Amino acid sequence: MTMLDRPDPSYADPTVHAEGLFIGGAWLPGTGIDVTDPATGTVLAKVADASVEQGLQAVEAAYAAASAWRATPPRRRSEILMRWFELMKEHAEDLATLISLENGKALPDARGEVAYAAEFFRWYGEEAVRIAGEFRHAPSGANHILVDHDPIGVCVLITPWNFPAAMATRKIGPALAAGCTVVLKPASETPLTAYAMARLGEAAGVPAGVVNVVTTTKPGPVVGAMLADPRVRKLSFTGSTAVGRRLLAEAAGSVVSCSMELGGNAPFLVFDDADLEAALDGAMTAKMRNAGEACTAANRFYVQSGIYDRFAQGLSARMAALTVGAGTEAGTEVGPMITAAAVDKIDRLVRDAVAQGGTVLTGGQAAKGPGFYYPPTVLTDVPPDAAMAREEIFGPVAALYRFDTEEEAIRQANDTEYGLAAYIFSKDLSRALRVGRGIESGMIAINRGLMSDPAAPFGGTKQSGLGREGGVTGIAEYLEPKYFAVNF
Ligand code: NAP
Repeated sequence: MTMLDRPDPSYADPTVHAEGLFIGGAWLPGTGIDVTDPATGTVLAKVADASVEQGLQAVEAAYAAASAWRATPPRRRSEILMRWFELMKEHAEDLATLISLENGKALPDARGEVAYAAEFFRWYGEEAVRIAGEFRHAPSGANHILVDHDPIGVCVLITPWNFPAAMATRKIGPALAAGCTVVLKPASETPLTAYAMARLGEAAGVPAGVVNVVTTTKPGPVVGAMLADPRVRKLSFTGSTAVGRRLLAEAAGSVVSCSMELGGNAPFLVFDDADLEAALDGAMTAKMRNAGEACTAANRFYVQSGIYDRFAQGLSARMAALTVGAGTEAGTEVGPMITAAAVDKIDRLVRDAVAQGGTVLTGGQAAKGPGFYYPPTVLTDVPPDAAMAREEIFGPVAALYRFDTEEEAIRQANDTEYGLAAYIFSKDLSRALRVGRGIESGMIAINRGLMSDPAAPFGGTKQSGLGREGGVTGIAEYLEPKYFAVNF
């Protein structure tokens, strides 16, 4: 009996999503990956550990389903995505609980993620019927130019643990809308959400083989074999820059099209003329959504001298007042980090900043277990060469740096290999836009702590990635233009 046959299926129950790999519309039994509750360090469920052969079986299933899915009318593809969106809304509370259990994030964050994730199915359900071509005269006048768009082919989608639902729907939505079939490889820490989503996809009417899900402890060999398979034409990866670089090199072997959503090191600029309360609200969102475990998280706070002390005190008071606890507990605002190793990394970065002269205003000490907790922390006067100015903190730690002039702020903001997100607070909109134009980053939020929106192009420059997800351009990553030179 599968979960959907049960009289009262709960998508929140971790154990029911552990039936095996999802390949070609069938659940293939397996075990081998422990899924841990970061709030306690105990095992929630065990999921299947795919071999290289099983990874290729998923590619075979996606390839077998490709021609029928490509021939499915865009309106029908749209209806299936819309139904999937509705099912996610119907089961939103269960999905949020499941995300909170395996990822650790506080329930309000998990609810926000489910709503955001579902919107990619609605947005791309709408876009599926709006794929446009081109028709024009050749400049020479000799012929006409006709441009059509084909689905690019079988896609391998690799997602990280920090947004287990949204990083999957941000890829599956446009891929299915474009007429592609996919193999999703979710992160080993948070596979249950991916399997729950696959179940909802089945219920929404996604045909067998169009979406396949494999989990593995051997991502290198399994993904390597998929990329070497000539049936795979697209890799869409979200994760660390280090793994992204390796995959780009591997994809070169078969000239596979790549979209890369990689790491960030977002600057958060506060000018003297900013509305202090708005800047503090924005700082709390930009830093503390997902307890700081976000690629767009504000990693470096550059604050102008005239507002620096008031901003530091205000931020410190707000951070100290947050309730830390298990993600699923009522009242929790900050959940645990994903692993003990994540806590160790944050601890190392904070110790390094303090050793170099930074001052702790609140927090600053890793909590003792059980569970993987780090308290909300604010550090002032962090030196620009501290390790946390270069590396993603990926935790609830705000590091403050001082600046005096606009030029200095832009120079410091750009002093990183990353270029994903940036935040600017100033009541002078022309200044904010001028500074924003000077910042090397794919996304800029002005007087806001949040920029993610399914209707907007999400992505980075420099070492933060290649391509964009979401918005009207996101579907282009899954389409191959085909040009006809036509004589009538
Ligand atoms: P990660 O270690 O790079 O892992 C991401 C995914 O890649 C996981 O599914 C992982 O599988 C897989 N993977 C690891 N090694 C691989 C290999 N050799 N070949 C193929 N796949 C491999 O990143 P993470 O720690 O999960 O996520 C955090 C990072 O993601 C941060 O840097 C963050 O900034 C970035 N991120 C970026 C965005 C964006 O939109 N730009 C959004 C969210 C997160 P396993 O789990 O099995 O190791």
